[in-house]
Amino acid sequence: MAERRVAAAWVPAVILAAAFLALTLGAKAPAPGGKPPLQDDEIVALLRDYLRIDTSNPPGNELKAAHFLKEWFDREGIASEIFEFTPGRADLVARLKGNGTKRPLLLSNHMDVVNVERPYWSVEPFSGILKDGFIYGRGALDMKTTGLLEATAMVNVKRSGGGLSRDLIFLATADEEVGAIGAQWVVDQRPDLVKDAEFMLNEGGVIDAVDGKARSYDVGVTEKCPMWIKITARGRPGHGSQPFARDNAVLALLRSLERLSRYDTPMQVIPAADAYFKARAASQPAGRAEKYRNVREALKDPEFRSSLEADPLLNAILRNTIAITMLQGAPQTNIIPTAAEARVDIRLLPGQDPAAFLAEIKKVVEEPGVTVETVGTYVPATASPVESDLMRAIERARARHHPDTVLAPTILTGWTESALMRPLGIQAYGFEPYVLEESEQNRAHGNDERISVDNVLRGARIMEEIVRDVSR
Ligand SMILES: [Zn+2]
Repeated sequence: MAERRVAAAWVPAVILAAAFLALTLGAKAPAPGGKPPLQDDEIVALLRDYLRIDTSNPPGNELKAAHFLKEWFDREGIASEIFEFTPGRADLVARLKGNGTKRPLLLSNHMDVVNVERPYWSVEPFSGILKDGFIYGRGALDMKTTGLLEATAMVNVKRSGGGLSRDLIFLATADEEVGAIGAQWVVDQRPDLVKDAEFMLNEGGVIDAVDGKARSYDVGVTEKCPMWIKITARGRPGHGSQPFARDNAVLALLRSLERLSRYDTPMQVIPAADAYFKARAASQPAGRAEKYRNVREALKDPEFRSSLEADPLLNAILRNTIAITMLQGAPQTNIIPTAAEARVDIRLLPGQDPAAFLAEIKKVVEEPGVTVETVGTYVPATASPVESDLMRAIERARARHHPDTVLAPTILTGWTESALMRPLGIQAYGFEPYVLEESEQNRAHGNDERISVDNVLRGARIMEEIVRDVSR
């Protein structure tokens, strides 16, 4: 998933002797008796092959991608196993043993991609084409490249003789983009595969760039959680030529939705949001900067408040949101239907009571014949600490590669599998080491999704450095 994210707090930089560390962490020379690390052209070729595997979900077909990864791990002598929990759909888990002095690092990724709208692509989405310094393909950003670079880091560690303080666990899942049944299968059936991990590195934040300049290393530490609901109105069926107002399902649904669309959830400033506004204060005009420094107080100013509400991202980090997204009535124009239905995408901030929120919604839409039910399961939002060994390793990578940037813990407005893994006791972080402008980020789930070769190769180095640094 690659939805909009927002920086939550700026962590003071801990600048280290950059060049020296980069050399020791990159491990470019083979260990005695070890093999040389993967070369740049090998990494690019592997990624292009991986992008050629069509894992559009639905239907997924992730088993093909799992076999690709397993064959690679087999060639490198890394133990891995495929778990085909449904025909054609599978997770893959690999583990590279460390010396066991620290708990494992889980390198997590999903193998499925969202579908493509082919007419809007200028290239074949599953050709892995290399053009003008970019590798094109569905999954280039979300998130096959990151999966491949996590595997690259494992392979290079193995080739250099291992010797890390932690086991490295590689988890590639099926179905993240639809129902996350792959990750859920691990949590429900085989938590033993991952639950000893201390940290998890997953999709989420990237290196945010504006006007060609890297600005911040955004690391997802928490995320809003979806609670999807279905509102159904039932009434008396009839002929469209003889309309009536009483017991009319469509009209009842419209009245309910009209009230729901006007319902303002209370604004609330969670600590991460407070930190976000404080961090961004300096880049605001004088009057506004003051308000950003004390956003709780400033929200009492109606003008300031509406300016925040007008920005969909700022609005989303300050409240539980409600989006009416699907509507269904009769199957044809001349029928007044027995039932009409709406689907609503609700996103709750961390620390909410979903049952209480649902009760509130029921009160808002109350109408004779109207019922409300949840769709799917709700996984409460959880957060990982802003200060941790993995965050410090990312911070050191930042200081070496982009000293003019800042480290920015972020709130994701979308959902990732980190939400499933944190309850197992794993500190999960969302970070993918690519320098991306918003226009490039928007190609994830969009058209002509691509990643530059520069980003792939720099990303491979940063990923491996972080893995080695946190596992020293
Ligand atoms: Zn994703």
